Amino acid sequence: MIENKKIFVLGMARSGYEVAKLLSGKNDITICDSKKQGENELKELERLGIKFIETNEPESLFDESYDILIKNPAVFPYNACVVKAKNLNIPVVNEMEVAFHYINKPVKIIGVTGSNGKTTTTTLIYEVLKRAGKKVKLAGNIGTPLSKIVCDINEGDILLLEISDHQLIDFKDFKTDISVLTNLCPTHLDYHGSYESYKNVKHKIFNHHTNTDIAIINKSNYDSLSLTNDILSTKKYFNNDTNYIKNNNIYLNNKPILNIEDIVLRGIHNYENILAMMLVMETLNIDFKYAYEVLKEFKGVEHRLEYVTTKNGVKYYNDSKSTNPTSTVTALKSFDGNIHLILGGMERSQDFNELNPYLPKVKKIYAIGEVRNRIVEYANLNNIPCESYETLKEAMAVILLNTTSGDTVLLSPGGASWDQYAKFEDRGQEFKDLLKD
Ligand code: ADP
Repeated sequence: MIENKKIFVLGMARSGYEVAKLLSGKNDITICDSKKQGENELKELERLGIKFIETNEPESLFDESYDILIKNPAVFPYNACVVKAKNLNIPVVNEMEVAFHYINKPVKIIGVTGSNGKTTTTTLIYEVLKRAGKKVKLAGNIGTPLSKIVCDINEGDILLLEISDHQLIDFKDFKTDISVLTNLCPTHLDYHGSYESYKNVKHKIFNHHTNTDIAIINKSNYDSLSLTNDILSTKKYFNNDTNYIKNNNIYLNNKPILNIEDIVLRGIHNYENILAMMLVMETLNIDFKYAYEVLKEFKGVEHRLEYVTTKNGVKYYNDSKSTNPTSTVTALKSFDGNIHLILGGMERSQDFNELNPYLPKVKKIYAIGEVRNRIVEYANLNNIPCESYETLKEAMAVILLNTTSGDTVLLSPGGASWDQYAKFEDRGQEFKDLLKD
């Protein structure tokens, strides 16, 4: 519990707003943000006696009179205000770390992190626990700040948190009972400065673990394996010699537990996410039948290799979250062939050559958006049929007429959506809308 403190919240968004509300009444709170905020939120803050200041120079308002700086996860660690707090020896924490201290009932905490697959794995765990009739609360990077739900947690609940590196970086006391590390690869290096720093931040998902806590780790990912060498948790591995994917089956403890023909999700990466989820279920003694029931229907998280529909024998997948060619590679690996690939989006000098090894699976490329001319050049160089359209809508009009039974249409653009959309979700939604009858 934090009381009688002078608190500076750097960056509002949902998490700054919710943590300020959680701490209100007993503390003197100021929130700073460079952006205008919604009227309703500002009214609520005023009602609670929380000050809001719109400024581009929060460091000029922050001084030694403050006791705590709560940093929004999106704020870079070397932000001037954060550096000032550190120089003044004022603790820098974040919303999730603060909210953790407000959990005052015995609950089991599951934390999911990793470079890729966090949201999918977290969602799978959530759906299966719900199906098994467990009281599970979901929060963190996946949407709802922990501060918003922490007062509603009941004894015996399972608290499931998706946790990003931007949140882990400011953890001190936060501790899980079960931590899942899906995988590690170099990403967010602008934020962390180096891959080493990024990995050290990810290590915090195992903070304060002893051998009664569980760590679920991807053994085939060298960086995950070496990072977890020194942790004290009881380790459970996937992609090892007992829990693995072979001949279209998912094996746990060397027994085939699931045939991939019986589930909707596609892609080795998703089968790995399933393995991680199954290890959580094994740890919690949840009957696997609930996982089978969920997996029979689970179409994937929206916009992430999401199965949309089948029309005239043609399957349509929405992978609008693919905003770089590496994600498109992951998607292409998930299918056997006959792919009509919709590629494009914002010009960011992305290198499409990464796709080369998977081009034999592609029947045709449909280039869209700002980067389409460069995609046409790329396709021509690699002898792949390619058509160019300014918009997704124009491309889809042609695709709907020119595909044949057995084909797969894959929107996996490998480019950000901001050339034509506010966000990737809008691009994916348009794709799905164009498939409605
Ligand atoms: P995150 O929350 O970590 O961004 P998501 O579950 O939202 O991950 O998936 C985002 C994209 O990452 C997916 O579209 C897919 O391309 C890729 N992905 C998902 N799971 C994995 C995995 N286990 N390994 C590698 N890539 C993955």
